[in-house]
Amino acid sequence: MAESVARGAVLHAFNEPLTIEEAPIPVPEPGALVARIDLGGVCGTDIHLSHGNLTIPLPVVLGHEAVGRVDTLGAGVETDFTGQPLRPGDTIAWTSSIPCGRCHWCVVEGERTLCENRRVYGINQRFDAFPRLSGGWAEAIYLQPGSAVFKLPPAVSPEMVIALGCAGPTAFHGVVDVTGVKPGETVVVQGSGPVGLAAAIYAHLGGAARVIVVGGPANRLALAEELGIGDVHVDIFSMTDADERLRAVLAETPGRRGADVVLECAGVPEAVAEGIGFARRNGRMLVLGQYTDRGPTPINPHLITRKQLTLLGSWAFAERHYLGHLQNLPAIAARFDLGRLVTYYPLAEANTAMTDMAAGRTMKPVLTMT
Ligand SMILES: [Zn+2]
Ligand SMILES: [Zn+2]
Repeated sequence: MAESVARGAVLHAFNEPLTIEEAPIPVPEPGALVARIDLGGVCGTDIHLSHGNLTIPLPVVLGHEAVGRVDTLGAGVETDFTGQPLRPGDTIAWTSSIPCGRCHWCVVEGERTLCENRRVYGINQRFDAFPRLSGGWAEAIYLQPGSAVFKLPPAVSPEMVIALGCAGPTAFHGVVDVTGVKPGETVVVQGSGPVGLAAAIYAHLGGAARVIVVGGPANRLALAEELGIGDVHVDIFSMTDADERLRAVLAETPGRRGADVVLECAGVPEAVAEGIGFARRNGRMLVLGQYTDRGPTPINPHLITRKQLTLLGSWAFAERHYLGHLQNLPAIAARFDLGRLVTYYPLAEANTAMTDMAAGRTMKPVLTMT
């Protein structure tokens, strides 16, 4: 019989350390299920959330990427999102958000990422309201009715899922679905955190002839290079002059004309202006990294017109992107050693994991619950 309480890492106030607290594990209502969490990923967004860069209710159990096992199924829950039978003990992952399925964006536009009533685990579900356990940095999570739960196929390990975390399906949405990298293209990826690496991986999978990663710090770039993620690596920490970086990047593109595709995954507003410079005329640029609002930045709009640039945006991911990413994970893991991205921390060391993530000391901190 399951224990009746679970511990979780709770954010009570911005810029304050998380505290480890217990909450009772609810019995699932019809349509819901309770999962025991094994791995909870730390994402760059968690750092921004802890600083109050996105309006969220507090207190909250952080963590919007996790892998666990089915504990208790509510009435009527018999299969996962794809129709596979679901039983206690099955290893599962789930999308972080639940769109309402009723608003203009869900119904008319069919863009469930844009839902105006989106509930997001680990971000906008309060710890002081039922069911309390709504984040991935906890020993258990209550998955509400409407959650998209996926039973992991044998070829997909929990570590593969958590190594890229939310960056994997986010990049699938932005790079594969929205931008559409074509075989032979030259792609610049700005940013060498998890979103940047996931975007670079999908550029490789799409058949890019050359992937140029512009990022830092050096340890992250070195890891990317070791794993074969990106063909060229430009370190913004050692090459601090923007004009020099522009010349260096253009020199790696056909005829120095610029990249066919620029994927901004840096999360730094200034990177958008720089990325416009990296793109060739008639090129495409995706702004993927600005998940939290870090304010405006000067850009030269003339370049967008003059270059006849296609500027794209992509927000998070929906169920179909998550599924698309899961389906690609065996091929990704066969080509790139994803386990090398991960550093494990016990739940009690959640604050250390966040500090290490913020400092760029680790690529993907992951909290373990056992
Ligand atoms: Zn995330
Ligand atoms: Zn909606």
